[in-house]
Amino acid sequence: MSKTWALWRDEKINENETRLLRRVADDVPVPFDEEAKRDIMIVVNSFLERDDAAGLAAPQIGISKKIIVFRTRGFSADTQIQRNGNDYEVLVNPKITQYRGDKELQKEGCLSCPDISVDVVRATSIKVKGYDREGKKINKRYSGFLARVVQHEFDHLDGKLIVDRGRTIYFPREKEAFFQAMFKADE
Ligand SMILES: [Zn+2]
Repeated sequence: MSKTWALWRDEKINENETRLLRRVADDVPVPFDEEAKRDIMIVVNSFLERDDAAGLAAPQIGISKKIIVFRTRGFSADTQIQRNGNDYEVLVNPKITQYRGDKELQKEGCLSCPDISVDVVRATSIKVKGYDREGKKINKRYSGFLARVVQHEFDHLDGKLIVDRGRTIYFPREKEAFFQAMFKADE
């Protein structure tokens, strides 16, 4: 399984990985060139080989480009993700053009923030403009848990992570000293 970049690992802050994860990702040229096509393929393959994530953003594997991929089916907020063939979508250079509906608070985890979960408020319905995997223009609405997943992955392209959005951060008791010191330093 390919490595996922993370802000910290085993109670140590990853400075180099943090720098890239915190960067605003670059636009992908449209129409896609060879490099763009290759990057999209790498992101999709890295995503499909894991079953512990509802979505993946390119910066999470060290590619600072605006590419996200996420499952569209076979998961829910509180059950394990089921591997189920081709039920996923790719968004390139996505822009959220509308937030609608209620705001909902729910716990989120992130491969780039190991060991913690965070209460995050998200809109329950969004509209997104961008390009699909083939470079075709799309303009779509997402709602419910899917809207949450897209907003989470979209944040990665802006260098934002759940720790920035969190109301309450949950971490394991045995790592309390590390996380408490870190989140205090952040304030
Ligand atoms: Zn994430």
